[in-house]
Amino acid sequence: MRRLLWLWCVILWVCLAGGVDGQVRHELPFPAIPGYETLKCDFHMHTVFSDGSVWPPVRVDEAWRVGLDAIAVTDHIEYQPHEEDVPTRHNRSYELAVGRARQCGVLLARGAEITRDTPPGHFNAIFLENVDPLETDDLVDVIKRANDQGAFVFWNHPGWKGPELGRWTDVHTQLYEKGWLHGIEVANGETYYPEAHRWCLEKQLTMMGNSDIHGPDLRLRNTAADHRTMTLVFVTERTLDGLKAALKAGRTAVWLQDRIIGRREWIEPLFYASLEVEPPHLRTNNALWVKMANGSAVDIRLENRGQLGPAELVLPADSVTLVRIAGRNLDGPLALPYTATNFLVAPDRSLDVTLRIPE
Ligand SMILES: [Zn+2]
Ligand SMILES: [Zn+2]
Repeated sequence: MRRLLWLWCVILWVCLAGGVDGQVRHELPFPAIPGYETLKCDFHMHTVFSDGSVWPPVRVDEAWRVGLDAIAVTDHIEYQPHEEDVPTRHNRSYELAVGRARQCGVLLARGAEITRDTPPGHFNAIFLENVDPLETDDLVDVIKRANDQGAFVFWNHPGWKGPELGRWTDVHTQLYEKGWLHGIEVANGETYYPEAHRWCLEKQLTMMGNSDIHGPDLRLRNTAADHRTMTLVFVTERTLDGLKAALKAGRTAVWLQDRIIGRREWIEPLFYASLEVEPPHLRTNNALWVKMANGSAVDIRLENRGQLGPAELVLPADSVTLVRIAGRNLDGPLALPYTATNFLVAPDRSLDVTLRIPE
């Protein structure tokens, strides 16, 4: 009898300990920048409650596993292809996922995708209190209702789809002038939208990069070579309020493939926080050897703008690279002008940097 009781205790313990407990998280080493913590975020994804193919808490498990800090589940309001099996309940994906998010310490924002023909296209509203009031015909009215709830609203994948894709129309101007449109996806999935990048720069809109994932995320981890497209958000506090404040203030960068895309104001400090150059450990008559550590999750690609140092340099993610600098009179600290070619401050412009080598 006691043995049976013991067995039941073990079974109960195994059941309670289910879910993601014990599942390994693969952290993404993006450093903090002066004054701000860097959160890795994906604010666009789907579940079975619209056209996705996973149950909502699975989105949280995936986020935890691949090193994300914050997500929003954003099912379509107007498109429910599974409705014969999964009833239309706009808040349900959030409600089903939020408990798991709390267990994992992943920040989960309640969101929805407002889905209209292009133009004007699709919009995400996140940090909503209730999705139901957004189910109404007039687009401007929908976006107003989202704003009445204090939501952050961004235009999704502006180059998708239809003959007038990627066109800034009167509706966009109207939403923008009312202050109801806060950002644009500069990247969605594997696609980059240079026009959207330009609009964000011109109009002080927040740059977003998201996965828009519909199927399960099959990655065990995100790597420099293969990762989810995501938004890096520079926050003063790791809470939903901190996240919303940072997004409304435009403090973001986008990680797409091997590129970091953003305003110079944010990607320049991210670059310098990622790079650590030690004093040279060997000097000879005509060269010095120095270790350069890249503490971020993205490879850093450099092109020389000066005379001294290699013409090109790649500093792999989360690694230390040995660099030889040839030349005479290499005494004292050096400042080498380079361009970080995969850090984009505009569609056709990369970030100029200085590699400072201490004495
Ligand atoms: Zn969409
Ligand atoms: Zn979507």
